[in-house]
Amino acid sequence: MAAIRHPITYRFPDSFPVCPGQRVLVPLATRKAMGIVLRPTSGVPPGIEVREALRALDPEPVLSPELVRLGIWISDYYLAPPGEVFRAMLPLRRETRRARLVRLTDEGKRKMGELAASLLEESRGSQEVALLAYLDRHPGASVEILHKKFPEALQRALAQIWVTIEEAERERSRRKVFAVRLVGPLPERQPRLSPVARRIIETLERQGPAEDHRQLLEAARANLDNLRTLSRAGLIELGGADTRGLSPGKRSVARDGGFPNGDLEAPPSLTPSQSNVLNDIFPRLDSGGFSAVLLHGITGSGKTEIYLRLIGRCLEQGRSALMLVPEIALTPAMQSLFFSRFGEQVALLHSGLTEGERDDAWWRLRRGEAKVVLGTRSAVFAPLANLGAVIVDEEHDSSYKQDETPRYHGRDVAVVRAQFAGAIALLGSATPSLESYWNAREGKYHLATLAERVGGRKLAAVEVVDMRQEFRETHTQVPISRRLKEEIAAQVQASAQTMLLLNRRGYSWFLLCRSCGQTQRCVNCSISLTYHRREHRLICHYCGYSAAIPSVCPVCGSEYLRYVGEGTEKIEQKFAELFPGARVARLDRDVARRRSEFLRVLSDFRKGKIDILVGTQLIAKGHDFPGVTLVGVVSADIGLGLPDFRAAERTFQLLTQVAGRAGRGDAAGRVLVQTFFPDHYAIRLAADQNFDGFFSKEMSFRRMMHYPPITVLANVVAQHEKLERAAQVAKEMGEFFTKVEGQFPGIKILGPGPAPLARVERRFRIQFLLKSVSRTRLHALLKQLADHCDQSGIQPREVMIDVDPVSIM
Ligand code: ADP
Ligand code: ZN
Ligand code: ZN
Repeated sequence: MAAIRHPITYRFPDSFPVCPGQRVLVPLATRKAMGIVLRPTSGVPPGIEVREALRALDPEPVLSPELVRLGIWISDYYLAPPGEVFRAMLPLRRETRRARLVRLTDEGKRKMGELAASLLEESRGSQEVALLAYLDRHPGASVEILHKKFPEALQRALAQIWVTIEEAERERSRRKVFAVRLVGPLPERQPRLSPVARRIIETLERQGPAEDHRQLLEAARANLDNLRTLSRAGLIELGGADTRGLSPGKRSVARDGGFPNGDLEAPPSLTPSQSNVLNDIFPRLDSGGFSAVLLHGITGSGKTEIYLRLIGRCLEQGRSALMLVPEIALTPAMQSLFFSRFGEQVALLHSGLTEGERDDAWWRLRRGEAKVVLGTRSAVFAPLANLGAVIVDEEHDSSYKQDETPRYHGRDVAVVRAQFAGAIALLGSATPSLESYWNAREGKYHLATLAERVGGRKLAAVEVVDMRQEFRETHTQVPISRRLKEEIAAQVQASAQTMLLLNRRGYSWFLLCRSCGQTQRCVNCSISLTYHRREHRLICHYCGYSAAIPSVCPVCGSEYLRYVGEGTEKIEQKFAELFPGARVARLDRDVARRRSEFLRVLSDFRKGKIDILVGTQLIAKGHDFPGVTLVGVVSADIGLGLPDFRAAERTFQLLTQVAGRAGRGDAAGRVLVQTFFPDHYAIRLAADQNFDGFFSKEMSFRRMMHYPPITVLANVVAQHEKLERAAQVAKEMGEFFTKVEGQFPGIKILGPGPAPLARVERRFRIQFLLKSVSRTRLHALLKQLADHCDQSGIQPREVMIDVDPVSIM
């Protein structure tokens, strides 16, 4: 229900005048919701019901007119409900919170009757019945509560679609602290007291009255409901004081990261190429208008220094600056660089912060105490006034695209934000996306180039190892060729550092039954489960579902189960065995989840305490490890086979980026790439580090296949837990497309067909792909589609519309 496509009109009582950008609490259907005031209207068309708004949530607008405008633009461009967009823009969650509520489906209601009847006969309890009955009494109970009460039954009920999960906004309850005391002496122990009630009373008897109920709850391992029950029973008394948080303006200011603000570091003197680039960019900044610049700088060419100087110049002019990086947790070096240059003016904004930290950073920016933001995707909405520059580092990185509603692309929104603010947009990469490079070629962006590495260092020499040849000569399928083994042995001998890239985490790719040929699949998604040795479980890389390792094939009962393929875990283990003297470590998303371990590996590797680092693309991203002289790519091919038109581009980017990690120090670097497709242009041109060559080659493919940047693309997916419903929605949409197709020449509609990932997180997915020569026309078609869906009773959650998708899987 939160996904309403059109703004709603409310009346505001005179007692609280509001202005655009202000957060308000309003009634929505039967509940309360947080809203953002968009614009005043005078006069409402007849027939439209106008409801009374409840109250303002903040004394002042939280969004500047510029950000309100940006939100409206996003909502329109990406066909996303405005409420969802503004929620994504505002990190502040203090007043309302998002709840995930569980509701009975019609099927569930029917089932409840059925189960209850059969149970009467058997006269024994069942978790499912208890769950359904509970939901009947408490419609819209939260997922968390149900999960605690009926863990397994909830899973089963979801799988059977007896219940569904719905998202809703709830006004955050005022956090109260109750004092708790016993009501008189208990005459004698009540025999029917539950164990938890007994614990509460015993604790109170032992400790005396509790001033803060939370402490009591902890001591007695109880919850607030238990207290309420005892209070209603007249056994205890609750009394209390309201302890709402202080208003944001009065909150104490916490420092990000805790970096000392002592002496700021002086920047190094610029190289001639860096000076050239800045001489090109500064006048654009000084002129005070919008301009977009693409900085194509090879790996190790010193792009970061360009960013820092541009930010410095903004500050000198009293303006602010915003820089996006793909994954901040991965670049602690970048953070310390920012703090050492700009001290307290820096605020970090990323998802690794606690809610409180994010709030603090946000308000510091809002109040103008911090003027430089370093953050990930959603930091593009940082409340900075008088913006001078918006910088997007590694602009080609696909993590800038949000993969849930609103499906915006952080890089593209950054450019629009700069445009609205009259600022510079600077997009930087060693491997620009085809879109951005095309924009530069077309003159939409200005192109700046850093063609040499700092200090005259050479790019690493790349050697391609043909794994077909390896197989022919050795007659065994091994993950590591003799050549790579040899090279690494030499590295270990010479105490030099090596990085090994394998874009697959886990131990083995999947568990295969050799009798029936089945692999163990996820129950929610149509993909194979990956074996993780550390957890000793099979894990789904899409939804996180995990299963125990079966001892026999669940399909045919055979015992001949076999692990197939090598993941990072296995390669790490293999190298540790091959080179017993070497220190081997691993970096992938599994390690990154344990932040301290991740930081330790990163810093140990930088300090030379690790000889061989095995990792996924995480190790390819932007790191500056001066000691690495050999990079091995265990398999360049994973990804090339995916049914996605960006497969070659991604492979090229990944190989070029990882090759760029070699030879950043004084010694020259080498790269070894193992592949079964040594002639593929993405691999050949990455080996030559020939970006322009790749660009022309790939553009001719895109032109031939009518893919972006030649056309604009939208991915439209009908999705539902029930295949029939997904099919029905797809059919509706198909009929709509057929009907209106004639009005939209130049748009090609492919589908419906099963999406390459035919089922994800329990939902079946049926896909249409829309290719258009004109963006305006595609947009008009999608708008009509959205309206049509609304009118035909298709819920927003049943249709995914992805404009400019980065993945069409
Ligand atoms: P990129 O991001 O383009 O791959 P970096 O910004 O990481 O490159 O720079 C590569 C290395 O060169 C870093 O170690 C950086 O400190 C160093 N560097 C950059 N600019 C200069 C400069 N003007 N003088 C000396 N060293 C520099
Ligand atoms: Zn089997
Ligand atoms: Zn899954």
